[in-house]
Amino acid sequence: MTARVIDGKAVAADVRAKVAAGVAKLKRETGILPGLAVVLVGEDPASQVYVRNKGEQTKAAGMRSIEHKLPATVSELHLLELIGDLNRDDGVHGILVQLPLPKHIDSGKVIEAIDPAKDVDGFHPVNVGRLASGQHALVPCTPTGSLILAKSVKSDLKGLDAVVIGRSNIVGKPMAQLLLREDCTVTIAHSRTRDLPAVVRRADLVIAAVGRPEFVRGDWIKPGAIVIDVGINRVPADGGKTKLVGDVAYAEAAAVAGAITPVPGGVGPMTIACLLANTLEAACVHAGLEAGAVGVV
Ligand code: NDP
Repeated sequence: MTARVIDGKAVAADVRAKVAAGVAKLKRETGILPGLAVVLVGEDPASQVYVRNKGEQTKAAGMRSIEHKLPATVSELHLLELIGDLNRDDGVHGILVQLPLPKHIDSGKVIEAIDPAKDVDGFHPVNVGRLASGQHALVPCTPTGSLILAKSVKSDLKGLDAVVIGRSNIVGKPMAQLLLREDCTVTIAHSRTRDLPAVVRRADLVIAAVGRPEFVRGDWIKPGAIVIDVGINRVPADGGKTKLVGDVAYAEAAAVAGAITPVPGGVGPMTIACLLANTLEAACVHAGLEAGAVGVV
């Protein structure tokens, strides 16, 4: 079998187009312009690229983009004061603090300072708890994007055996919650899991979020399974260059799977698209519209 390649760029473009249409409708009907504030602390080059892309895509969707760049030496108190200001600002509907933060700043404290209604990353314990207890929540963007990609292959995931490899707060745990919400039978695997290949072989749906290049091998994959590769790993390539690979050995897995996401061009583009969707969602709730009215995700 040769797997269908899931085109994350095309699906993300579709989500962004729906967000742009939702933004235009919200503006037309309520006069509210959704605003996303992104806070970057320090000069990390990868974070600078992410923040620039977020700003560009926010504006392209017709929303207001607000950027706050603070030096790596900024005090925790100063950062918390800025978040307080953004919480009180009626023109700001989403707040994202780019992680990681410098070591002298407690990122848990910073995340908890964000108003849960503006927590478009979905990391605040209130949103984590709401997701876990089946209430409406702002949900982390990468797992949401991964779910949309899985559903682009099979719209009803009910009853599928799903294996999530990785249990981080950012990807693995919320991913498992989302799949449970879809009525999958969910297994969460991690570094202490015994006989991981046997666990993965049971899966109709595999979500790999490990952070290890080409870790999941082709002979772990059940024939016909849907494979969503969240990993982004930079590895050496020919000619002294580097390239990006996922957490799945792509060529091996594509020969067995029913559908698979490539890296790059799979989950990656979905993350910012879902951030924009969360910002629109937060703005709609702020406008007094029903939660989930956006209908993007
Ligand atoms: P973390 O490092 O926080 O978590 C990795 C998880 O993998 C942990 O739960 C760890 O288990 C598990 N793990 C590590 N080694 C093994 C092993 N040998 N066997 C089984 N499980 C193992 O990573 P993240 O969740 O933040 O990210 C995962 C990947 O996704 C990374 O490649 C990252 O770059 C990528 N990513 C991509 C995004 C995107 O936009 N596409 C966004 C966010 C992340 P344990 O808990 O036991 O240590």
